[in-house]
Amino acid sequence: MPQSKMPADASARRAIAPVICYPPDTLPRPDQMWLDTLRADLGKVDEVLVSPREARLFRAKAGQVFRITSVEGPQVGDLNLWNADDLSEHFFSGKTRALHGTHVSTGDRMWSTLPHLRPMATIIHDTLDWYGIDAFGGGVHDVIGTRCDPHTHHLLSGEQYHHCCHSNITRALITELGIDRDVAELHAHDVLNVFMCTGFTRDTGQYFMKASPVRPGDHIEFLADINLIGALSACPGGDCSSTHSSDVAQCYPLLIEVFDPKAEALSDWAPALRNGYDRSHGL
Ligand SMILES: [Zn+2]
Repeated sequence: MPQSKMPADASARRAIAPVICYPPDTLPRPDQMWLDTLRADLGKVDEVLVSPREARLFRAKAGQVFRITSVEGPQVGDLNLWNADDLSEHFFSGKTRALHGTHVSTGDRMWSTLPHLRPMATIIHDTLDWYGIDAFGGGVHDVIGTRCDPHTHHLLSGEQYHHCCHSNITRALITELGIDRDVAELHAHDVLNVFMCTGFTRDTGQYFMKASPVRPGDHIEFLADINLIGALSACPGGDCSSTHSSDVAQCYPLLIEVFDPKAEALSDWAPALRNGYDRSHGL
């Protein structure tokens, strides 16, 4: 129950129409005709299969395409991205959410942390783009969740569980990059929840998840805007229809494939540049 008395003009204050914080009109959108040409001729250079309740790293050079595909059964994935040449620049889910909304799809970009704030990857194809926003306010591929992690799980349950996406990504960084455990954990960051269906309840504003609409064969594709290291965790929540942070849910692998477009398709393209703010901060 609220402790504060409702003012006489409460209805009038609530009735004020919202204003979009960051109208995206000045954000350059990729040219879909050019993307269709680029996508039409891709040569596969690598693939990584992520086991259930584990994470794997992958690399995509600027100009390469990477695709995440559901195989075997409905499964959501937690995606982290870093600048391959400087791990301190990584995906910034909060600003991506502010710029593109709670859920992302074709044409949206994954932005990097300040002060870099540049596109790290552009979504160029999404077989779930038909889903939109459902009657519960849910959508697919969210940038509102953080990542399932053992610290929150311990806070709420007192248990020790080691296969949350946060730990899976941490282990992948340790084993594949040789980083110390304590340092590796600090590189894990808020994710793009690939294939996950989430929203906020309309009445209480609580974060919810529901069974992902993803089916085997569904995929999402990205163009790497800079040289990337990515980590993808096959979440212990499986399709996230019931629970996560445990071994209860049915889980499936996820496939990552990396492709080279034809050189001609990239002739007018260049990697993304760092943000142009001069960083003098008024001094
Ligand atoms: Zn997870």
